[in-house]
Amino acid sequence: MNCRRKFLEGCLGAAGTALVASAVSVRVEARDTYQRPPEALGLLYDATLCIGCKACVAACKQANDNPAEFSTTDKLWDTPLDTSGYTFNIIKMYRSGTMATKDDETNGYAFMKTSCMHCADPSCVSACPVTAMTKDPKTGIVAYDAEACVGCRYCVVACPFGIPKYQYDSPTGKIGKCELCRHRYKDGHYSACAEVCPTGATLYGRTSDLLSEAKRRLALKPGSVTTYPRGNLSGGPDQSYEGYVGNYKQHIYGETEYGGTQVLKLSAVDFEKVGMPYLSPNSSASTSETIQHTLYGGLLAPFAVLGVMTYVAKRNVHHEDDAPADEPGKE
Ligand code: SF4
Ligand code: SF4
Ligand code: SF4
Repeated sequence: MNCRRKFLEGCLGAAGTALVASAVSVRVEARDTYQRPPEALGLLYDATLCIGCKACVAACKQANDNPAEFSTTDKLWDTPLDTSGYTFNIIKMYRSGTMATKDDETNGYAFMKTSCMHCADPSCVSACPVTAMTKDPKTGIVAYDAEACVGCRYCVVACPFGIPKYQYDSPTGKIGKCELCRHRYKDGHYSACAEVCPTGATLYGRTSDLLSEAKRRLALKPGSVTTYPRGNLSGGPDQSYEGYVGNYKQHIYGETEYGGTQVLKLSAVDFEKVGMPYLSPNSSASTSETIQHTLYGGLLAPFAVLGVMTYVAKRNVHHEDDAPADEPGKE
């Protein structure tokens, strides 16, 4: 009887100690939002220069060997209405009232590009349990490995921009998203959408160069004349031309949103009105990873308690077994 009481007392004492110790150990500090690598590559999309020709949509399809998608019954044209497992880039249109003037918020219209933002701290990478989504440490390109993907679609749910899309119609469905045309670099090419854009509305280059260019534009007087580069801002032949400065919102979308993105955007219409979500300067990956680690850390507590209880139980049972059978007071 004595022995059983001692055993329970030992267990309770040990469990209490283990619980306190583990409760202290699971307090995890929130990690910082990761920054873009210094050599990060990306795009600058300037909606005031976009004429809605959708050459970039067609070029993206071609560059990624993606099939046409139809939204009309005659099926004459590739007319995707949104990004999908087979459409990685789309130009959407903002419409207001009479739609008389381009880039006017009231009674106007405007364009907006939708494709992967190549976030500095991407939640698709953080959420993927098998590292099928990865961020290149040098270029910062967020790449996808179809061989590693198990089709869980955690990345689809995690992305704040709704970018990764699953190929639901395929028995071996994979995720489709822009990888900044990284497969074209070995042949001396860069992002197809930027290569074909006739106005330079989509511009490719190092994100640091693109950010400087965006700041230069915001400092110009609306209606004045300036030089607009086309193609690759950080290399390649000069294809620049002279054009009129748009009436920009003083906001570079992606400079700070979600911890910063490698694709940056300029617009004359409020970003939320053209479909870009309001996001804080912290990535949700930094928060969710902290919660995950805290949860996993918390799961250690019961195991620690169980371990200590098992040890104490074994020790007491040994003591009981080791004692001589005729020991006085033994039950
Ligand atoms: S190719 Fe350039 S101008 Fe044409 S829709 Fe795309 S971004 Fe706009
Ligand atoms: S936009 Fe979405 S898919 Fe692209 S890197 Fe960011 S989280 Fe990932
Ligand atoms: S970089 Fe390539 S994959 Fe990405 S939107 Fe442009 S053309 Fe499409």
